[in-house]
Amino acid sequence: MHIDARTIENNAIIEGDICIVGAGAAGISMALDFMNTKYKVVLLESGGFEYDSRLQELNDGSTSGQKYFPLQSTRLRYFGGTTGHWTGLCTPLDSLDFKKREHVPNSGWPITKTDLDPFYERAQKTLQLGPYNYEYSYWKNQRPNLIAYPLDENIIRTKIWQINPSRFGSLYRDSIINAPNIHLYTYASAINIDANETASAVDSILITNESGKKQEVRAKYFVMACGAIQNARLLLSSRKQATNGLGNDFDVVGRYFMEHLDIKAGELWLFETFETDLYSWGPTKAELALTEGTQFKNKTLNATVSVHSPLAVGKHVKPLIETWQDNDPRKALEQTDNRSLMSKILRLKSKISQPTAFDMDCNAEQAPNPNSRITLSDEIDYFGVQKVHLRWELTPLDKHSIRSTLALIGQQMGASGLGRVKLKEFLEDESDTGFPELVSGGFHHMGTTRMHDDPKKGVVDANCMVHGMTNLFIAGSGCFPTSGAANPTLTLIALSHRLSDYLKENFEAI
Ligand SMILES: Cc1cc2nc3c(=O)[nH]c(=O)nc-3n(C[C@H](O)[C@H](O)[C@H](O)COP(=O)(O)OP(=O)(O)OC[C@H]3O[C@@H](n4cnc5c(N)ncnc54)[C@H](O)[C@@H]3O)c2cc1C
Repeated sequence: MHIDARTIENNAIIEGDICIVGAGAAGISMALDFMNTKYKVVLLESGGFEYDSRLQELNDGSTSGQKYFPLQSTRLRYFGGTTGHWTGLCTPLDSLDFKKREHVPNSGWPITKTDLDPFYERAQKTLQLGPYNYEYSYWKNQRPNLIAYPLDENIIRTKIWQINPSRFGSLYRDSIINAPNIHLYTYASAINIDANETASAVDSILITNESGKKQEVRAKYFVMACGAIQNARLLLSSRKQATNGLGNDFDVVGRYFMEHLDIKAGELWLFETFETDLYSWGPTKAELALTEGTQFKNKTLNATVSVHSPLAVGKHVKPLIETWQDNDPRKALEQTDNRSLMSKILRLKSKISQPTAFDMDCNAEQAPNPNSRITLSDEIDYFGVQKVHLRWELTPLDKHSIRSTLALIGQQMGASGLGRVKLKEFLEDESDTGFPELVSGGFHHMGTTRMHDDPKKGVVDANCMVHGMTNLFIAGSGCFPTSGAANPTLTLIALSHRLSDYLKENFEAI
């Protein structure tokens, strides 16, 4: 059922069993899990069903540190959330991403990959992807022209991705609206989380819209699914019962903001052409990565390296951080589409003579860093909520990892007689730990409400429940303690399905 919150009277009280705030990838995935159950779900969405420039302004914020995209352009405020723009590149995290790695400070999840596997399988379906199988051998059997470079498998592995940019807004709109127990409220922006006196439980969430009217939403359980930045913002700005913000007794909310570093890090020069579709875009695509053992031995973070773009094409394509600088995400996307269109045309041209030189685009894990963080700024939005400030801060370990990954792939290319790798200039001086401006992110916001068993080190526990609170949960990539090198949406949807099951199983008990 759908209700436009602008039509509801001022000060009305809305009640449900579970209130989910945010109808994007995470929120919709959870609402689908509760469809046709006995629970009344109140799904609150800040926007309507279409893009709205005025509402988009609510994502505004300032940035410092490593150059970043205008914050307003990195998330969408309407039903379906940022799946309205995403590319749809999916792969699960690796088992190693969940482990505590001595060389990666603050690493280690309180759950393992095996815990998440059944939920990954469900997330594949929610995203309308193929089978939950990311083994190279499986895909090679499906398409024999997926031939991997013959590199030492103990050192270099093939990381498979599946691609399907499902738009949740159109895909799930009818199912959600037609579900009698899902009460979707559009134009319902959450502006405060009101807790009990001891800040141990949420009583209600205050919503508003441009009509100026406000309503209170009461439920047994509340799930914040507004994205990693907006979730942290709402926790930090809800200070009536907790001076530092809800769930923030130990000053962790907003810290450990992580992105995936996206940068041209090298050039691959093959001695002769190598016929394969493995590394090109199709229903799948593959990238090169270091094996777990090699990462531990060389004390690196995780990273994947794409080798699909011929050098002759890549030299015409500007880094994303340069083309994506408009506040309006539609204009920024248009710039990027132009960029990829040009790249497609050039690639077609370059097929005439099979390319032997490729850009090596690195997609790298960022080390969890407490100083890379979201805070509240002094500016307020038109609903009176403080805007955010993002300080994106990288570390020497990030740089070391990219350099080592490229260097090790280069060694293996040489050892196998396939070719040579040339590192980009910014990696040449090993003593230089800084990053050039041309590092982009992947629009992957992670870590601001990280998961940890210890409330001093994390905001949520292994079940995504906010520490110290009995009925407040977070859904989304803000819960990731480390980012791995896998794009986050498949994993955040898997975590959301896991949270749905937890709530169903424990509805009476917790
Ligand atoms: C250009 C681009 C390309 C991308 N490509 C990929 C990719 O290839 N692979 C990948 O894994 N990821 C990709 N991503 C990231 C992906 O879009 C996000 O990981 C995913 O959408 C996050 O899901 P979410 O539900 O946490 O947030 P969102 O999808 O952003 O949804 C959050 C929802 O909450 C609502 N909301 C926000 N604040 C409030 C509030 N106060 N009250 C009520 N509602 C609120 C918003 O309107 C929105 O509908 C890409 C992103 C962009 C921008």
